[in-house]
Amino acid sequence: MLNKLSVKIGLLFFLVIIIVEITLFYILYTNLVNDRVEEVMGDLLARGNTHRDVLEENYTASTLNHVAIMESESDFIVVITNDAGETITSSNPIEPEMTAVIEHKDHDGIPDEGVILQSDWSNEKYVSTDSPITINETHRGHVFMFAESANIKRIIGQLSQQFLFVGLLIIFLTIITVLILSRVIAQPLLRMKKATEQLSRGNHEVELYTNRKDELGELATSISRLSKDLERLKNERNEFLGSISHELRTPLTYMKGYTDIISRKDVSVKDRNKYIKIIQEETGHLTELIKNLFELAKIDQNEFSIKKEKIIYGELLHTVKARIQPAIDERKIKLSVFCPDNLVVSVDPERIQQVLLNILDNAIKYTPKGSNIGMEVSQNKHEILTTISDTGAGIPEEDIPYVFERLYRSEKSRSRSNGGSGLGLTIAKEIVQLHGGKIELESTPGKGAVFIISLQKGDTNEESFID
Ligand code: ADP
Repeated sequence: MLNKLSVKIGLLFFLVIIIVEITLFYILYTNLVNDRVEEVMGDLLARGNTHRDVLEENYTASTLNHVAIMESESDFIVVITNDAGETITSSNPIEPEMTAVIEHKDHDGIPDEGVILQSDWSNEKYVSTDSPITINETHRGHVFMFAESANIKRIIGQLSQQFLFVGLLIIFLTIITVLILSRVIAQPLLRMKKATEQLSRGNHEVELYTNRKDELGELATSISRLSKDLERLKNERNEFLGSISHELRTPLTYMKGYTDIISRKDVSVKDRNKYIKIIQEETGHLTELIKNLFELAKIDQNEFSIKKEKIIYGELLHTVKARIQPAIDERKIKLSVFCPDNLVVSVDPERIQQVLLNILDNAIKYTPKGSNIGMEVSQNKHEILTTISDTGAGIPEEDIPYVFERLYRSEKSRSRSNGGSGLGLTIAKEIVQLHGGKIELESTPGKGAVFIISLQKGDTNEESFID
């Protein structure tokens, strides 16, 4: 329970807010209490001073009486003494707690505006003030004012009650706010936790709907995206495994069939040689397919390293041409190569040869005997463009977006009979991308295909001409 995020957030909020509230309340309460006590004491002294002023104006028995009668109706008590400290009159009977105050003899130090004699309302029964009476510069006595401490305690009690009520209300509101807040924060996290648990259990169709634009909203969107990616990867993996098993089964079925035939005694030498040739071809296809699969696996695991070096591009193109010369000759194809003299590129020569060979292999395979294939290099400010075009069957428009995908073959039977595995262009695209470039295809069915490889020029000195 205590480990729950909502509880932790709630408790933390609650503690912080309560500590802040208690501190503020304490300061406010003490200030208010002090103000109220000062106010009462100030009133008491002012009242005593007023009586004293009246008596200084008119120090007669009737005035003394009048003052006493006036206070007998109020919450205050007045005691008037003469210069010898004897009580002349008082509004109420004098209690022992008052006597100690009245009897103090140290009158000399008391200023004309009077003094507060007792303000300790929490321990004493009365608070009191003293206003000395001076007529014609002669000390004539004192006006003592008393107020019951119980009155002050009652006022403070009311204040405390109000504080308690407001305090409890604030704690209640704080608890509600904290509960709502912790739910607002913890609830989406809980939903995300459930979603990720589902993801790890293999249910990849997790959708977290949220209108939030904050970090939690972003996290929910990322999880939804992750679930879609996982679902796509799962589908791709299944499709890929299906295609791979098909690709492996077909040549193996052929090989098994032909070895069965060869092992029969009644097969002529001519037929046997024919079948052995087919088996050799299928073994070749299998070897090629497995080699390509390994390459792709290495690319997927980022183990496919590109070692760039500066080379003269034209020389590389001629090496490629020399390597496919036998196939070109066999199909009586004319391959024209154009590359600006001494153009230097920074590439991994082995890998780029592989790209060119894969594309040229296709061009040769899918182009009728005696046609033309062109390989031309041009450049603009930022890129070096290698265009490989053929005049063969081309690729149907609907297949163009997919030809770079794994194991995709445009016309399955035709490309299989040509020995294609559907991985050549995928590998070519990956290698070009690892070089920071891109590969594009334009094709009009019946009129041939054009592959354009764009390699980024590095800094201006990286790709340049050698003088
Ligand atoms: P494959 O090994 O089957 O040739 P690729 O990945 O190299 O595999 O090519 C994918 C598919 O694209 C081929 O099966 C083929 O249908 C089509 N293709 C590629 N290049 C050409 C081309 N120059 N002319 C026509 N079709 C092509």
